Amino acid sequence: SDVDNKLSLVRTRIHRTAHIVVDSSKCEVCPHEACVYGCPATCYRVIDGKVKFAYDGCVECGTCDVMCDQGAVTWTYPPGGFGVLYRLL
Ligand code: SF4
Repeated sequence: SDVDNKLSLVRTRIHRTAHIVVDSSKCEVCPHEACVYGCPATCYRVIDGKVKFAYDGCVECGTCDVMCDQGAVTWTYPPGGFGVLYRLL
């Protein structure tokens, strides 16, 4: 898809501190798991009935922070030089 093609141009430099921290105890009582459907980079997945999060493909769009109404997402930008790198091709 176009989204997959564009995501293949993205590079990420991982910082030792995650810029998104997810409180899984709040995910367990979430009735809709909106993050799973909203994240364009599929950082949120349902595995064995539970929401699992991995930030290493994150494009820093902020969608999960906006969509989560359970207060499960703590979101901060990575420090300078880290995080997503967009290439304009
Ligand atoms: Fe996914 Fe965007 Fe949240 Fe990153 S900021 S985990 S890409 S929804």
